[in-house]
Amino acid sequence: MEKIPGIRGTKDILPNTIDQWHFLFDNFNKISNQFGYSELRTPIFEKTEVFHRSIGEQTDIVNKEMYTFTDKGGESITLRPEETAALVRSVIQNSLLHENNILRLWYFGPYFRYERPQKGRLRQFHQYGAELIGSPNPEADAESIQLAVALAKSVGITDYKLLLNSLGNDASRQKYRAELVNYLEQNKNSLSFESQNRMMTNPLRVLDSKDEGDIELLKNAPVILDSLDSDSITHFNLLTSILNDVGIGYEISNQLVRGLDYYSHSVFEFRSTMLGSQDSFGGGGRYDGLFTQLGGKETPAVGFAFGLERILLILEAAQKLPLFEKNVDFFVVIQNSEYLNFANKVMQILRNKGYSVISELSRRSFKAQMRDANKSNAKFACIIGESEFNNNKIAVKNLATSEQKEIPFNEITNLNL
Ligand code: AMP
Repeated sequence: MEKIPGIRGTKDILPNTIDQWHFLFDNFNKISNQFGYSELRTPIFEKTEVFHRSIGEQTDIVNKEMYTFTDKGGESITLRPEETAALVRSVIQNSLLHENNILRLWYFGPYFRYERPQKGRLRQFHQYGAELIGSPNPEADAESIQLAVALAKSVGITDYKLLLNSLGNDASRQKYRAELVNYLEQNKNSLSFESQNRMMTNPLRVLDSKDEGDIELLKNAPVILDSLDSDSITHFNLLTSILNDVGIGYEISNQLVRGLDYYSHSVFEFRSTMLGSQDSFGGGGRYDGLFTQLGGKETPAVGFAFGLERILLILEAAQKLPLFEKNVDFFVVIQNSEYLNFANKVMQILRNKGYSVISELSRRSFKAQMRDANKSNAKFACIIGESEFNNNKIAVKNLATSEQKEIPFNEITNLNL
């Protein structure tokens, strides 16, 4: 029979790397708790409408990248391409804001986008993210960024660029959009084909263009910060002053708009030079309009997501991944299959005491089993040979020092290593 490969752009997380994922999860769990955030898990699929209404019809995600299918009941379902929309759906549905006026939530899990796979870009990838819901104030934006910085630091990432911009409130954004479209229209013939299309559908995204000609042209485009009204400026100034006070470095980037429709006020992105062309390992911003788009009442919110494969790539390139050694306490060597019942009683006692225990299952020779024990990284071999079996005892050999002692069966419960 032919072998069946996994789906392009997906990766198995093998036993030799799973500890890296636990490392990320454990650290992020700890830091999230320090900031008073609770974990929330939503299903991996949602009604397609959740993403259509929130992310925006004219974004790459909705246009080209969603895994959408019709289920057997005829409903259009989508594998989640990001969390924020699904999480907001859940907060509304479960009335989580009835009991609290501020919600602090985090999530960790797989997301799905039909993108062209390359280094740091997968079709199933993982994100950690955090959302701070209920505050319109810039101190909430600052908290979100402070949490992101603390999370990165907790796993050893301190060398990156934090880009920051403000899209302002609705009124400022509309004003800017008109100015930008005006500028782009004047220069339409010099724009790339893709940007000419985007200019009509989602003009702010033209600022994201990677085309060299577009980049040159955009150098003289109107700047969004110049279009902000006084409320939006006050919001942005307080955010930057908090970041200054707590010593978080950032760079203001006029071009940063991020892909999704729902952002307003602050947007930010974390970039690393360790990643090659896919250099963003996280990003977020404020999304005050999203709740109403999903049928909730008007609720301000801000949040961000980290791409976890990219965080691991950075740590690997910087040689900052901790070494994870796995070793069991006991490797049980059983000289003769007639001793199996006795051996299993011994193993049960050891496991009940909390030790980790594995045994040889191939019934190989005593010598081969001892070799396996030495190779297994176990701390001790528990040897059940002929004399041990006949005398109702076990031999415990320290595999590092070769020191060996004998322990009668009824004293195993008192064993203290
Ligand atoms: P976004 O939801 O697009 O703002 O993405 C947030 C972060 O998720 C990015 O900065 C990346 O680190 C990561 N990410 C997004 N798309 C992918 C992908 N296809 N493969 C791997 N990581 C991704």
